Amino acid sequence: MANYIDEFRDKEVIQKIVDNLSNYSGPNLKIMEVCGTHTMAISRYGLRSLLPKSIELVSGPGCPVCVTPTSYIDSALQLSDKKDIIITTFGDMMRIPGNESTLLYKKAIGNNVQMVYSPLNALDLARENPDKEVVFLSVGFETTTPVIALTVYKAKSEGLNNFSVLTANKTMPEAIKTLAEDSELDIDGFIYPGHVSAIIGTDFFSNVAYNMKKAGVVAGFEPLDILYSINILVKNISNGNIILENMYSRIVTKEGNTKAQQKMYEVFQAADAVWRGIGNIKNSGLELNAEYERFDAAKKFDIKIKASPEPKGCQCGEVLKGKKRPIDCKLFKTRCTPENPVGACMVSSEGTCAAYYKYGE
Ligand code: SF4
Ligand code: SF4
Repeated sequence: MANYIDEFRDKEVIQKIVDNLSNYSGPNLKIMEVCGTHTMAISRYGLRSLLPKSIELVSGPGCPVCVTPTSYIDSALQLSDKKDIIITTFGDMMRIPGNESTLLYKKAIGNNVQMVYSPLNALDLARENPDKEVVFLSVGFETTTPVIALTVYKAKSEGLNNFSVLTANKTMPEAIKTLAEDSELDIDGFIYPGHVSAIIGTDFFSNVAYNMKKAGVVAGFEPLDILYSINILVKNISNGNIILENMYSRIVTKEGNTKAQQKMYEVFQAADAVWRGIGNIKNSGLELNAEYERFDAAKKFDIKIKASPEPKGCQCGEVLKGKKRPIDCKLFKTRCTPENPVGACMVSSEGTCAAYYKYGE
């Protein structure tokens, strides 16, 4: 295993690719890495600094926690105030500020908020606490959603009536189309998320290349994966070869994981979704379909998710669209730090602001 990973961190090969990229003499290029883990890896290995000035990497909305709007957090906070409800969630969600506080604060004052590693743990809690209502905060892209769908499916099969999910699940394709169409953003090429691609396959990304004339590459997460992918992308753009290349074929196939897709669409159906800072994108989210509606916490507890303003001064929206860098936000490293985050991009371990902060960019 060590040798296998070393292969993707080989300094000599990295140097060759860097040398090759430094010879690039074409027009300025803007490349968006859509995925939060790519952003983290790019910052962690200092890859941005290895590229010539003419090749700019901008970060996209690829962290599910970062794109969850404040209004959703406010609804979760509201739910946690109700008697006999256990709110279950992944760790990062506990620290995102809503308008009045955070789930971590609610926990500190005695509300029943519990961190879980999997939605299936939340289901265990529902079985163990038949006198309580267990709500799972259902946030994630195509990578996480199949297991959430499986959990809801299990709850239904077992006839568990004290389990529900507050949905804010999102899917990548429509969001990528929105970014590709944004003339202000003017992206030349995309580095697509490896994990999401493993589930949905590569067909959609090929369509973006073909129909929207944006070159793309599906990339893995090791430094060599990323640099090699950038190299191929730049070469293709320079040659007018606007195609999608799958550079992560050890994990990603054309069809993707059809079983995971089936499970997801057995329980969920496409719905409009609000992305933090980007706004409403048609068909870019998921809601429980009619057969599973009774597991929808918003309906069960009559929660209305109302739009609420983002924190004052926070530029997360612009950062998530790749229009601004974290350092362009006045709150970066001043009022906003990982210990005291103002916006979601500083909270999540995959957030762009957190990556820039941690690795000093
Ligand atoms: S879940 Fe995977 S694919 Fe999605 S943003 Fe995180 S690392 Fe990238
Ligand atoms: S530095 Fe903080 S406030 Fe500014 S954009 Fe990032 S998360 Fe939002």
